[in-house]
Amino acid sequence: MTGWVDVAPESPFPVTNLPYGVFSHGGEPARVGVALGDQVLDLAPLAAAEGLDGGHVFESPALNPFMALGRPAWTAVRSWLTELLTHEGYRELVESHLLPMGEVTLHLPFEVADYVDFYSSQHHAENVGRIFRPDGDALSPNWKHLPVGYHGRAGTVIVSGTDVVRPAGQRMPPGAGGPTYGPSTRLDVEAEVGFVVGVPSQRGTTVAVGNFAEHVFGVCLVNDWSARDLQSWEYVPLGPFLGKSFATSVSPWVVTLDALAAARVEGPAQSPAVLPYLRRGEPWGLDIELEVSWNGTVVARPPFAGMYWTPDQQVAHLTVNGASLRTGDLYASGTVSGAAKDQRGSFLELSWNGRDPVILADGSSRTFLEDGDEVSITAWAPGAAGTRIGFGAVSGRIVAGGSTTG
Ligand code: MN
Repeated sequence: MTGWVDVAPESPFPVTNLPYGVFSHGGEPARVGVALGDQVLDLAPLAAAEGLDGGHVFESPALNPFMALGRPAWTAVRSWLTELLTHEGYRELVESHLLPMGEVTLHLPFEVADYVDFYSSQHHAENVGRIFRPDGDALSPNWKHLPVGYHGRAGTVIVSGTDVVRPAGQRMPPGAGGPTYGPSTRLDVEAEVGFVVGVPSQRGTTVAVGNFAEHVFGVCLVNDWSARDLQSWEYVPLGPFLGKSFATSVSPWVVTLDALAAARVEGPAQSPAVLPYLRRGEPWGLDIELEVSWNGTVVARPPFAGMYWTPDQQVAHLTVNGASLRTGDLYASGTVSGAAKDQRGSFLELSWNGRDPVILADGSSRTFLEDGDEVSITAWAPGAAGTRIGFGAVSGRIVAGGSTTG
């Protein structure tokens, strides 16, 4: 696509991307914007000036009202924006609503309704199985029959750039006679891809795999911070709880499914065959390459394209019991890990549970996170006309916890 907009080729936000976020500028109320190169397009006044139908949704401090409008509106706004950014005649108008990215504050882009986390990378599940159950089967018996997941805590989903306070809790040290309490000593990351629901579903009904794109608005990056010491003591028999619920970070920009049309790939072949409600229709694997940086050192490049369960299957499974979707629901893929060592999306796997320390560029070594450490996850996917679709970053820094109670 050619147009009047001049975006640096290395920018994650070319005119073929147009991801949505929420920003504030000066002392003004937060509202919806679109990332374009190193600028933010202020949609509310632009929509008002152009008399765009329903344009008031962009005055909201969350994407939820826009996401609730549904796919025809999402596609129409994308076409409208593309038109404005392509034709020289709109240049003056549009430029008057562009703000430098460096001058705005980015906020949590949507009000998170429910949050679910899956476990859909076979390499990740097998690595974790080998680490924690060396004498058992790497995969649990259900793993290839359903996308394993759990319900997480929506209220602690935070936007990139928000500090993460080291959680405290109970752990059972190896060989100890009883549990102890204190700050987590095995704080980890999970590099994941998140799917954001726009259109709700009715309780008592199901969402078929083929209706994925009618309900899901877009995609963001997720860091599912995990306290492995708390997790390993508490998770039997009901699954993840306080080892995960203290914070989950998301990237500030939500990339639409439309922007990812060129990134769609078949998911890996599934054997044994899955039940009919999980059978894939259109390909909804996504060729997204993640990159995990630890204090500025790239430590992993996890490939999302190899995920065993695809997001259309995940939403079908999530609703197969009649559970409803709500606007703002977030479901994450689970840690993205590839086959190679440098494709592992958690430090648990990268350090093999602390056995093999990771060496950073400054010469220091790490197994799990120390106070002051910063982790940033970025990602790219192929876009239209040879462009690259960037997701920006989800970043967070660990800070020491405050007062504790024993
Ligand atoms: Mn996770």
